[in-house]
Amino acid sequence: MQKKKVDCVVIGSGMGGITAAALLAHYGFKVLVAEKLARLGGRFSTQEIDGFKCPTGALIIQRGTELEETFKVTGAKFDIADCAEISWKIGDGIYPLLGKGVGKTLWAAFRNLRWHHYKFGIIHQSMIFKAMLKIGWRAFLNLFRSADNKLVRKSMRGTISYRDWMEKHTDDPQIIQANHAIVSSLFSATNDFECPAEDVFEFWASMANPAKMQKFGYAPRGNVELINNLAKVVVDRGSEVMTETEVKAIKVENGRATGVLLTTPQGELDVDAAVVISNAGVKQTVDLVGENPLFQDYIREMNETLQPVPIVMGLIESDVPLLDKTGLVVITGTQAIVTGVTLTLHSDEIGPPGKHLLWTCGTPASCTEPMDIERELKRNEEDMHKAFPLYKEHGRVLKWVVKDIDDDLPCMRTPPGYDMPVETPIPNLYNVGDAVKEPGWTGSPACAKNAWKVVDMVRKQLPKPAPSPVPSSPSTN
Ligand SMILES: Cc1cc2nc3c(=O)[nH]c(=O)nc-3n(C[C@H](O)[C@H](O)[C@H](O)COP(=O)(O)OP(=O)(O)OC[C@H]3O[C@@H](n4cnc5c(N)ncnc54)[C@H](O)[C@@H]3O)c2cc1C
Repeated sequence: MQKKKVDCVVIGSGMGGITAAALLAHYGFKVLVAEKLARLGGRFSTQEIDGFKCPTGALIIQRGTELEETFKVTGAKFDIADCAEISWKIGDGIYPLLGKGVGKTLWAAFRNLRWHHYKFGIIHQSMIFKAMLKIGWRAFLNLFRSADNKLVRKSMRGTISYRDWMEKHTDDPQIIQANHAIVSSLFSATNDFECPAEDVFEFWASMANPAKMQKFGYAPRGNVELINNLAKVVVDRGSEVMTETEVKAIKVENGRATGVLLTTPQGELDVDAAVVISNAGVKQTVDLVGENPLFQDYIREMNETLQPVPIVMGLIESDVPLLDKTGLVVITGTQAIVTGVTLTLHSDEIGPPGKHLLWTCGTPASCTEPMDIERELKRNEEDMHKAFPLYKEHGRVLKWVVKDIDDDLPCMRTPPGYDMPVETPIPNLYNVGDAVKEPGWTGSPACAKNAWKVVDMVRKQLPKPAPSPVPSSPSTN
């Protein structure tokens, strides 16, 4: 077996893994990224289908976070187009939803005398207000408890679901359905009757922070381009990114990680490393370590905490836009589909000339049990007909991407608020990615954020490296 030695092995090239690798390589550490698939990026990547550049998961990128900062710090190109609008579709109307749009929504509803929209607007505002109050109360509580945020949240959890809370305020089915769509679409991709009100309040509060939540973008040529730009940083600094390379085991001796065993297209490789960062998911990390008494409590906590989130993602081709609106649209009045984005209205590099691509997200009937796949496909197909009248004549399904709760790459490894720490029982083994998010964070920015946290820890743990070779050209593709 061939041998190799690096400062740090990164298992997986999703947003968390590639962020950690690019930063560490930038700071001069010798890094090896092992990615088992042929393409980089995991659920933040691009798959080519019939001439369309289709997302493998994430589409809308929250700006002004560590995700964007990684590109600034490392000098990688961050080519992002603004996607300022977030709207919601109620019946045939499309109304602004976020940011200045909340005011506009109220006005549009008022002007049109659509009482249920108006009433919903008020409830929506009051939710944010209540959330702020609750967050304030929690901060107060924290002063008197030596517990961290996570414990406080746990002690408050489970008493009432968001749907139950909503039903205390209204029995209007349209408002309840619209609210379900917003929660599924923007917050956790779970059903509102399956997630605690507490967690949604926290998220509303973070949305009320204009600096954090109101700038969005998308990659006009697909996310894989952004990931490749970060991979180039790694390679330009003299480190390595290997695709079709699967980590089979994390080596542990005397309570410390000593490296990994991996298979490459050329054969097996034994890599020694001072630090191992896993982006494979917390459960997968545990499997890669194998039986180890150090992990007993950790595994118990993991089983109690993580709740993988399923999804059905639709990639729909058409010759006219089925949803003729830029930005992200929250779809209401449907059974499963809660989000739609017409990618080709933002960029003509996404598909063949004259063709359109609609991206949809459908929340399964239950997010806590394995899907009845046939039933879910039927729900999504019926929603297409109901919400997009042009679909019947002009639309064609490129692919329904079904990600069940046991999928290797689910919608999310766990919803916000149900996360594990980045640290493991082994002091030089860390997790990054969407199972170890900071409170109040979700999606790909959350993964970049926890990668930064781990990189800070690694820099304190390892001796300062010699200055890395400076690349001769900027790290762009
Ligand atoms: C349909 C859908 C829509 C979404 N929409 C959005 C959105 O609009 N905005 C947003 O911000 N987020 C969105 N998300 C969530 C976002 O995509 C994820 O939270 C994020 O991309 C997860 O990144 P990660 O760091 O956890 O890595 P992952 O994407 O989980 O990547 C992990 C990588 O590790 C590799 N790997 C695993 N095991 C091994 C091994 N043993 N050896 C080598 N490699 C291994 C995998 O192949 C994979 O490439 C969406 C997700 C889905 C599915």
